[in-house]
Amino acid sequence: MVRKCCVPECSSTPTTPSHKFPKEKQRQEEWLDVLKEANINVNEIHKLRVCYKHFVENDYTCNPRLRILKSTAIPFIKKHDPQIYCEEQQQNNDVLIQLERHEAEIFKNQEVLSLHSEEILQTRLTMEQNIKKIQEQLDEHIKATCKSRPEL
Ligand SMILES: [Zn+2]
Repeated sequence: MVRKCCVPECSSTPTTPSHKFPKEKQRQEEWLDVLKEANINVNEIHKLRVCYKHFVENDYTCNPRLRILKSTAIPFIKKHDPQIYCEEQQQNNDVLIQLERHEAEIFKNQEVLSLHSEEILQTRLTMEQNIKKIQEQLDEHIKATCKSRPEL
């Protein structure tokens, strides 16, 4: 007898392709952990199915004729179907791309900023040199003035 997917709120029917729980204890527990919400009775586990909607393309082997679930596959519960899941992934990707762009901009700005601060430093050095020169000229001028003044 074909059974309906045991994931709560899953819209699949008994004819939707589905998978039995793994027999291996460790993997069974991994599945149970993900499917906590389903309140699964462990004694009934052999009767239960999880439909393909809770797996991603990567969970299957690449054989195009026969889609076999990989032994490492673990289902996921989403309140909506994989279509929306993909859209969400896409949105996440978009956000990531935007973030990367912002980071690149910040990086550029920082570069410009460091260039500017170098310019500012250079300007300051030049100004200090100029002040020193003026100071020296002033000193000489004062000395010259003092010499030309008759001794008292
Ligand atoms: Zn399902």
